[in-house]
Amino acid sequence: MSNPLVMQGMTLPDVDVWSDRVTVALGQNPSAFAGPGTNTYLIGTGKERLLLDPGEGRETYLPILEDGMRAAGCEKISGVVLTHGHPDHIGGVRSVLDRLGRVPVWKFPYAPFDAGYDDLEMRPLADGDKVETEGATLRGLHTPGHAPDHLCFILEEEGSLFSGDNVLGVGTTIIPSTSGDLGAYMASLGRLLDEEPTAIYPAHGPKIEDGPGKIREYIAHRHEREAQILAEVQKGPRDPITMVRVIYAAYPENLHGPACQSVSQHLMKLEKEGRVARTGAHADDPVRATWSAT
Ligand SMILES: [Zn+2]
Repeated sequence: MSNPLVMQGMTLPDVDVWSDRVTVALGQNPSAFAGPGTNTYLIGTGKERLLLDPGEGRETYLPILEDGMRAAGCEKISGVVLTHGHPDHIGGVRSVLDRLGRVPVWKFPYAPFDAGYDDLEMRPLADGDKVETEGATLRGLHTPGHAPDHLCFILEEEGSLFSGDNVLGVGTTIIPSTSGDLGAYMASLGRLLDEEPTAIYPAHGPKIEDGPGKIREYIAHRHEREAQILAEVQKGPRDPITMVRVIYAAYPENLHGPACQSVSQHLMKLEKEGRVARTGAHADDPVRATWSAT
C-alpha cells in the first residue's frame, strides 16, 4: 500500500480550493502509485461545475465530493470530463452519476478501456475539442504515452493545465509496458511545454506553481534515465531487472516491478531508434528479454 519513500509524508486535505475556478476533492484512494489519491476537480464559477476525473469509486469519496461542492459553492455537476480510462480516474463515474444525476461524460474514445461503460453514453472528445461551463473553458490536448486515450486540458481562463497522469505533483509517471509508449509520452511532454502553462493541476499530488519548470524537470529526468540505461546495456547484454537493481538501487523492491516496465519502455524507444536490440529466449517480451547495444 502506501510507500513511505514515494509518499514522503505527502498528505493533502480532503477538500481544498486551489483557485477561483478550481476546487479539489481527494478520491480517498491513497497508494504507492496514486500518492495521496486521485485529485478530482470541480471546475468553473457557477452553480453547476464540471467534474474532472471522479476517482476510483471508493464509498468514502461521495461525501467528500459533496463537501467539495459546498466549499466551491456549487449545487450540481454539469458534466464529467475524464483524462483517461485507468481505473483510478474512470472507476468512480457510475457512483457519482447515481448520486448526483445523469450528466454527459466526456472522454477520448478508446475501446479497450471504455468497454464496461457503454451504458453511460460517453461523448467523444478529440484533440482541440472544448468543454465549457460557467467561468471555465477546457481545451483538450491528446497526449498519449502514459495511456493511449490520455487527454490533458488547458483551462483557458487561467492558462493553467490539468495534466492528468502525464505530470504529477508527487513521484513520476508510470509508462505501462503493455499500453504505454515512452516515445509518444516524450512527444506529449514537449507539447505540454509548448503551451507554457501558468500552473499545473495534476491527477495526483499538490498543485504545481511553476508549470514549465516542472515539465522541463520531467523531460530531463527521462533523458537522464535513458543515459543510465544505455550505459548499463553498453556493459554487455542484460535484462531489465538486472538494470533496475543498479539504477533503482535506492528504491524499495516493491517498486522494482513497475521500474522494469519503465526500463523496458526506454529500451523499446531505443530499439525503434536502432540503438539497442533484444536477444535471448524471452525476446518477444520486452520486460524479460536480454538487451544489448547495437
Ligand atoms: Zn493513469
